[in-house]
Amino acid sequence: MNFKTLRDFDLNGKTVLLRADLNVPAKAGKVSDTTRIDRLKPTIDYLTGHKARVVVLSHFGRPKAKPEPEFSLAFLVPVLKDRWGCPIAFAADCIGEVAQKAVAALKPGDVCLLENLRFHKGEEDNDAAFTKNLAALGNIYINDAFSAAHRAHASTEGLAHILPAGAGLLMEAELNALSSALEKPQRPVAAIVGGAKISTKLDLLGNLVKKVDFLILGGGMANTFIAAQGVDVKKSLAEKDMLDQARAIMDKAKTANCTMLLPVDGVAATAFEANAPHTTCAMTAIPDNHMVLDVGPQTITQLQKALSSCKTVVWNGPLGAFELTPFDKGTIDLASFVAQQTKAGKIISVAGGGDTVAALEQAGAAENFSYISTAGGAFLEWMEGKTLPGVAALIKYRTAA
Ligand code: AMP
Repeated sequence: MNFKTLRDFDLNGKTVLLRADLNVPAKAGKVSDTTRIDRLKPTIDYLTGHKARVVVLSHFGRPKAKPEPEFSLAFLVPVLKDRWGCPIAFAADCIGEVAQKAVAALKPGDVCLLENLRFHKGEEDNDAAFTKNLAALGNIYINDAFSAAHRAHASTEGLAHILPAGAGLLMEAELNALSSALEKPQRPVAAIVGGAKISTKLDLLGNLVKKVDFLILGGGMANTFIAAQGVDVKKSLAEKDMLDQARAIMDKAKTANCTMLLPVDGVAATAFEANAPHTTCAMTAIPDNHMVLDVGPQTITQLQKALSSCKTVVWNGPLGAFELTPFDKGTIDLASFVAQQTKAGKIISVAGGGDTVAALEQAGAAENFSYISTAGGAFLEWMEGKTLPGVAALIKYRTAA
């Protein structure tokens, strides 16, 4: 892809504005999952190792364009210090004198975190004056926040037009993984799409049928497709007002030569509850008063067979109500199979978006996937085939002055 990487810059003594995504899950000042922080460490190590002065920019939560203590990034200083293994300075504002002083105090190899960008309205507005104020703090802009790249904000898009710009190691890995999954995949390529509803994933499904050889559907959304074929799905979650849209996607798939695989059997229960009494049934013979909460064993066997012929798979959404045992079994079984195929070098597997990461982690399969994206909205927009402004701006980078 046509964007600069860290290796394209002479970083020695330069001040690098590093857009990170430190919008980590936290409760009462405690970070509950450090994945996003840990994934930034290689970029931090590279920059500090090459004697750059590193100025970390991030948003956190949704403050209303003014300082709000509960959204301050200050609480992350000790966490970053611990996870990145280096001292972290902090500036209580991301522009102006406070930021300038903190940046001026940095020596080559030092790292400073600036306060939440969203304390200023100019960030989300991608305001030119605000962007200029940010740009004045450094010489080079590195974007390592793929998960924020679907937003055209000052720090995710605007800066790339003012400063020499490139991708951090995490952004680079993410873009390479995504490109190998859908843009230039080894074929045949399959997409697995699960989750609750098709109404939230219409664009995604419409894009995928044009790009993949197999579209595997599971979860509540598969019920809508099955209902669209005239089957009574009884009490199963299904969007009765989306049947036409489901049929339109099936038609599109046919035209594009994309094979759609819907569950042939399911695990049905009378209540949406863990350990609810359940039975395995054909999707065409769901008992009265039952709802399908997972795909069944025949479906898993069929999907394993289809995936055995594939060289690439991209996965978004669980195949069943994975939060409730035993209705997590289908997701776990298929995730374990994909992980095994990946480990054996038979398939490239990329997954991401919302509940997907949690489901694959629950299955103990995540670590063997080729790439797991921690980006939620950005990953989905990429699967929808949309241009991500943060990525587009890097591709149109300005050459270093
Ligand atoms: P999404 O956010 O669209 O990826 O949907 C994830 C949610 O879909 C999870 O909370 C699952 O419990 C739910 N889900 C998956 N399959 C089913 C199903 N068959 N019936 C009801 N909910 C489901």
